[in-house]
Amino acid sequence: MSKMDEEREEQIKRCVPGALERETASYEAKEKELGGGLKIRRALPLAKRRLVGPFCFLDHFGPLDLEPSDEGMDVASHPHIGLQTVTWLINGSILHRDSLGSEQLIRPGQLNVMTAGHGISHSEETPDDFEGNLHGVQLWVALPDGERHREPAFEHHKQLPCVTRGALDVTIVVGRAFGEASPSTAYSPQVAMEIMVNEAGAHQLELDPLFEYGVIVLEESMETDRGKIGAGTLYYMSTGHECFEFTTSGAARLFLVGGAVFEEEILMFWNFVARTRDEIVEASDQWNANHERFGEVKAYPGGRLNAPEVGPIRPSK
Ligand code: MN
Repeated sequence: MSKMDEEREEQIKRCVPGALERETASYEAKEKELGGGLKIRRALPLAKRRLVGPFCFLDHFGPLDLEPSDEGMDVASHPHIGLQTVTWLINGSILHRDSLGSEQLIRPGQLNVMTAGHGISHSEETPDDFEGNLHGVQLWVALPDGERHREPAFEHHKQLPCVTRGALDVTIVVGRAFGEASPSTAYSPQVAMEIMVNEAGAHQLELDPLFEYGVIVLEESMETDRGKIGAGTLYYMSTGHECFEFTTSGAARLFLVGGAVFEEEILMFWNFVARTRDEIVEASDQWNANHERFGEVKAYPGGRLNAPEVGPIRPSK
């Protein structure tokens, strides 16, 4: 190790507790079907990895080819608390409607961010006349304690910053990286980016050693120190990493999330992120009783999803 490397290691050790025990891991995502033939791979939360930074939920859905007569995605009106939902598409379109009166069609390259805060409800569906391929990701970001009771909000961004690093075209979806910042509102240190790999080769991407990271593969595959990673696996890098190194045998598309380790213990149940079981029981009861806390998705033509009975809840730590 050179003198400079030694100094750098010392520096990281001072800034990042445990940085020298940096580790990588890979985890199998859970596969589910959302109905209508739409397959999802749930990369968070997993039994062995509940969070990556503030990201507590990471679904990769599709790809699914749809005819106009197919149902596609149709998630009826349902509530959220204590989180932000982030929707990003590779193909297709989804119509978002919420209790604030927002009605927004999202297309690939655009971003929907809904801040649930104290309470909101929304529906998500493929438009009636939709024909083609549906493929994307949905993330949930846990709000820190000081922000989780805030007023709900919805943002749509038509354009996001993009930077090129070697053969990688990187879109900054959430947070900031490489001197660029996403226009979306974030409440804790975090980043999410789509990484388009344009050609075969060995690739490198600078990381913030103060963040931990998770990467999923949306198209094709990558080779890492944990072997070959394809769709359906979460690749994890702890704090202390300054570089994400991987190779591909051709073009590929990846999605990376990261952030400062979320120190608060959260409880997740159904569509709620809270700190205590009582908060979750209260939110469930209020939703099922049509309480004004969650408003009403007036424009959605279907019914509403009922909150299931609150069962055992596994804490995030
Ligand atoms: Mn939702």
